[in-house]
Amino acid sequence: MSAAISAWSIVTGPSTPVAIGLATVIAVAAWSKGSFRPSGAIAAAVVGSIALRAGATWGGFLIVWFAWVTLGSRLGRARKAARTVGIVEKGGQRDATQVTANGGIFALAATVTLLRGDLSADDALWGTAALAAAGADTTATEIGTWIGGTPRSVRTGRPVPAGTSGAVSVAGSVSMVGSALGLTAVAVAIGLLPASRWWVVAVAAVFGAVVDTVAGALVQQRRWCPSCETATEQALHTCGTNTQHRGGWRWLGNDAINLVCTASAAFLAWGLASLLA
Ligand SMILES: [Zn+2]
Repeated sequence: MSAAISAWSIVTGPSTPVAIGLATVIAVAAWSKGSFRPSGAIAAAVVGSIALRAGATWGGFLIVWFAWVTLGSRLGRARKAARTVGIVEKGGQRDATQVTANGGIFALAATVTLLRGDLSADDALWGTAALAAAGADTTATEIGTWIGGTPRSVRTGRPVPAGTSGAVSVAGSVSMVGSALGLTAVAVAIGLLPASRWWVVAVAAVFGAVVDTVAGALVQQRRWCPSCETATEQALHTCGTNTQHRGGWRWLGNDAINLVCTASAAFLAWGLASLLA
């Protein structure tokens, strides 16, 4: 116990073995609860180890973020599954590609901080903005689907089934902005961000989530199941039928869109921070 405590520093984070051990325990626990596929748990352990090693604030923010998106996905799970079955590309168990699309840029920022050897606020700004954008986007879908209301496609303006990419609802939009603000507040409260720069991260996170929605509407590939006569994101529909390409860029799936979301948030936060410096 005392060894574990002495290995921990609030400024530099835990030592490498402690960081890897703690991240692995959390990832395995989340995998056993059904949050990850095995590849996703491995990727999450890597991202978590890097974040914890970069500092207690980086690791702490990642853990709070993960708890928040997990809570969002568990709220009314049965009701949401019934609404989105056959629509969304992947279910609640995240694989390595999804973990990287959501957490890769945050891990990159943590790595840059580690390599610099100092707690540069600018790395925390763009890293936090990327993760907050992913959280805001995920929560918008999860809570929007849970609360209900009719989502409308940004592309056509027409009502679409819950869980469809590139669609917005009132509940989803409120959840998205609320999550961006809440996650930013957490990052400030635990000391990852300077309080004077909270708005840079909040604005960038909302921007990333909006980019995600617009890109999801305009360029993400759209598919159609001829048997069920329904739109879907799945290549092989839940009914067993191979679906047809109906529009958008064939190679651009939901994971690539999530990477665009986090990258655009990071880029805006970095740009704003550079302008203010
Ligand atoms: Zn079908």
